Amino acid sequence: SIGVQTLDVIQHFSSQFKILGLAAGQNISLLKQQILTFQPAYVSVSHQNNLETLKEFIKHYNLNTELVYGSQGLRFIATLPSDLLIVAITGTASLLPTCQAIKKKIPIGLASKEVLVSAGKPVMELAQKYQVPILPIDSEAAAIKQCLATDDTSNIEHLTLTASGGPFWKKSLSEFSSITKKQALNHPNWSMGEKITIDSATLMNKGLEVIETHHMFSLPINKIKVLIHPQSLVHGMIEFKDGNIISHMAVPDMRFPIQYVLTYPQKQSHPWPKLSLSDSPALEFYEPDLKKFPLLKLAYEAGIKGGNAPAILNAANEAAVALFLKK
Ligand code: MG
Repeated sequence: SIGVQTLDVIQHFSSQFKILGLAAGQNISLLKQQILTFQPAYVSVSHQNNLETLKEFIKHYNLNTELVYGSQGLRFIATLPSDLLIVAITGTASLLPTCQAIKKKIPIGLASKEVLVSAGKPVMELAQKYQVPILPIDSEAAAIKQCLATDDTSNIEHLTLTASGGPFWKKSLSEFSSITKKQALNHPNWSMGEKITIDSATLMNKGLEVIETHHMFSLPINKIKVLIHPQSLVHGMIEFKDGNIISHMAVPDMRFPIQYVLTYPQKQSHPWPKLSLSDSPALEFYEPDLKKFPLLKLAYEAGIKGGNAPAILNAANEAAVALFLKK
């Protein structure tokens, strides 16, 4: 989802960007369209058995795209000498290529929060060592970065990440055991990939974001709060020591944080719909119910514990979500 939307943004700014490499999984028909449109110099696919059809396709259209595959292919794409690498692979598969890109001093636009959840400390230390910026493509983390507007976090009293609450925040706990995959995949506000949509339904996504934010902004876990905000228009807020709060608002559309990172630090106008406050519903904020959503509590506990606890939590969650998606 993030890859597709990143290409969508890039198409609107086509004079400013060139796609050097693309890495894909199994969706070969979509990849073919993307190769035709963006004509990347290099393409990686996860499985070798997709190489032949792609080779014929590239030959047929007389393109100069070079093909690679597997984890080596991924590493090759991640370490191409580029101005920006967008990391948007679901789960911990993105961890290694991200580290390899950092060592090549390639700036990172990070959509895969699992990278910082499972290895936040070593990854941030590596980024610091190689002086590589890591910019957040997560609407909440991008919101916080824009509210902060400086690297000085010493005046922060606490910050708030908002959560839509997903499809079930109003549902009574007694009905939770009968929730189906289809219901869980039906997110009210955001269009996202399957794994993160399930994580949103359980609020684990917010728990992962708490740990992500903790590493990205070097803030103690207990300074990061979560509020349910069903309208998904306010994405993050910072309350400073003096009680002043700065918040970030935009329509719930991932192209906003994607474009923020692509054109950072510049701001550029774009054609997709912007927020009109007078046409918007009233804004509501609620404390999350940790009895209904115990994974959020668990994420706080793992984050405070530190060490490999968040990596274990994250791996267990990846496995549990995969099993749920397989029914
Ligand atoms: Mg998010």
